[in-house]
Formats: sequence, structure tokens, C-alpha cells
Amino acid sequence: AKEPVRVLVTGAAGQIGYALVPMIARGVMLGPDQPVILHMLDIPPAAEALNGVKMELIDAAFPLLKGVVATTDVVEACTGVNIAVMVGGFPRKEGMERKDVMSKNVSIYKAQASALEKHAAANCKVLVVANPANTNALILKEFAPSIPEKNITCLTRLDHNRALGQVSERLNVQVSDVKNVIIWGNHSSSQYPDVNHATVKTPSGEKPVRELVKDDAWLNGEFITTVQQRGAAIIKARKLSSALSAASSACDHIRDWVLGTPEGTWVSMGVYSDGSYNVPAGLIYSFPVNCRNGEWTIVQELGIDAFSRKKLDATAAELSEEKALAYSCLS
Ligand code: NDP
Repeated sequence: AKEPVRVLVTGAAGQIGYALVPMIARGVMLGPDQPVILHMLDIPPAAEALNGVKMELIDAAFPLLKGVVATTDVVEACTGVNIAVMVGGFPRKEGMERKDVMSKNVSIYKAQASALEKHAAANCKVLVVANPANTNALILKEFAPSIPEKNITCLTRLDHNRALGQVSERLNVQVSDVKNVIIWGNHSSSQYPDVNHATVKTPSGEKPVRELVKDDAWLNGEFITTVQQRGAAIIKARKLSSALSAASSACDHIRDWVLGTPEGTWVSMGVYSDGSYNVPAGLIYSFPVNCRNGEWTIVQELGIDAFSRKKLDATAAELSEEKALAYSCLS
């Protein structure tokens, strides 16, 4: 039998956490033959609720779940973890300035980075979900210098899956037959959902999405804004932010990273930029990636037209500005 993998979820008593931990315990994240030990961290005001989640995990009697650590102690939470999913963060409350929210999250991610750096397993893989996700991941990278930068990522898979979903609804095809959309840039409304290389599997082979949709105005307009603003639409409908889809896409992100992407298929991940596609190096930016043997690589040499170029640059500019704001909170 396989050794259990230790998976940390921070903010585990929150809504995404509540949807995510049962998925992990069922094998959705790491596969149906991989035992797991869940490490759940939350802050003291949420300790009782966190203990309730632990009780439910015990009551669900998940065969793959070999242990549960529920704690408000960041060192205990981080000790020995192989995978860290960072969902906890300070929410933007009414009347708060962007700088105040950034400053709160910078201090949270700085402290958690140090704990992971000292106590996580060697080669721990990190996924940041909490907003501002790209910049929180960048701070985590800065303060965990012994964790390889390739191991620190942020979630844009939900946006990627939303784009697949919109194409599938529009064409009335199975979502599993649509592939190779791209989310470029920031997990914010400046992100660029790009269908220029996306295809659909049809009885007569793979066809470009643009050829099938036959409506560039929709693809360059409403499609993009629908994906960008889907989070807000869900808050409006549910009076709560998206949680099951965020949790599901976090599982997709880790599963594909660890177990690999299928030949000819890429996914979107926020990763440390090496300057590919003339995106400034040193930002955590969402790119198309292939995964093999537990490592991602940016898909190279995709054509970028003038319309796309502007959008790639605009979301990079927003990230550079966030980075500067985050650094100003450190001093
Ligand atoms: P959620 O579980 O709904 O969201 C958690 C984080 O994920 C938020 O930052 C949220 O950003 C972000 N997020 C990223 N992508 C998405 C998406 N597509 N849809 C929704 N959210 C997304 O929040 P809760 O308030 O229910 O839970 C947060 C938990 O974190 C609580 O248990 C709380 O106690 C804990 N916490 C921990 C802190 C710490 O570690 N020091 C500090 C503060 C809270 P957004 O806010 O933009 O929706």
C-alpha cells in the first residue's frame, strides 16, 4: 500500500475548505488509491467550527483518510506536509482600502511561508487560492526561499474551467470534448481568457473553437467578460462566493500537476514567470502549462495576435502594480 500523503488546507473552516476537504479525503485530488492525512488550519475564532469539520470527516468514514490534524497552530499545521492548499486569507470588508487588505494578507502569507519553509516536507507543492492569489503566492515564494520556486503556484484553474464551460454551453458539446483554452495573467477581472488555440473533439476530428463558434464578436466580447465576471455573478445568485467549483478546480490543479496532463492537452496555472511570452520575469502569472513527473512547463511558441498581446500586457501591468503595493506593505 502507498504511504499517506499529508495535505494542508488553511482556512479549512471556511466555505471553500468545507467543500474541499471531503474531495481530498475521497481521492479526488490525488487519486483513488492514494491514502491521505489532512492537516486543517484556521484562526482561533474559527477553532470550534474547525473541530466540527473534523468530527464530520470522522463520521464520513472515508477509507482513504488515515488521519486528521485540526489546529490553530501554524507550525503544527505545516509539519511534514507534502501538499499545501492555502485557502485562508483576510477578506476585503466594506470600506477597506486595497492597501489595507493587501497589508493583512502580506503579513499572513509571510508568516505561513516561514512555517512551510521550516516544517514542510522537502519538495512540498504549494497552491494559493486566497485572494489576491497571484500576489499572495509571490509573497509566499519570497519568504520561503528554500522551497523551489517551481513548487509555488496559484489557482487560475477555476477560470480555465469556467472558459471550458462557456464554450461547451455555447456549442452544446460535452465539456470534456473542449480543451486548450488559456487563462493569462492575474486571477482578477483583468485576466484574459483566450480561445485562439482551443479545440473541440468532433466526429470528424479536432476543430478550432473559433471555426465552430463562427462569432468572433462573442468570443472577443461577451465570452471574455462572462468568464472574468463569473465570480461576481455567483455571489449575486448565491449571496455567497463560489465554493464547490473553487474546491473542485483546486483538486484539478493539484491532480494534473502531480499525475500529469494528457498528451496534447494543457491547463492554466499561475506560476513564476521566466519571461516567456514577454511577460515580465518575477511575477506569478497564469500561463498554459503541461505537467509531467510532478513538474509543470510553460507551453511555448503559441501565436499571440495583437488583440491578445494587449490583454497579456494589461494583466501583467496590474500584477506589477500589485507586486509594488505588496512590497510597500513589507517596509
Ligand atoms: P472562502 O472559503 O469563500 O474563500 C477563501 C479565500 O479564497 C478568499 O480569499 C477568497 O477570495 C478566495 N478565492 C479565490 N478564488 C475564489 C473563487 N473563485 N471563489 C471564491 N473564493 C475564492 O472564505 P471564507 O470566509 O468562508 O473562509 C475563509 C477562512 O479563512 C475562514 O475559515 C477564516 O477563519 C480563515 N481566515 C484565515 C486567516 C489566516 O490564516 N490568518 C485570516 C482570515 C481568515 P475573496 O475574498 O476575494 O472571495
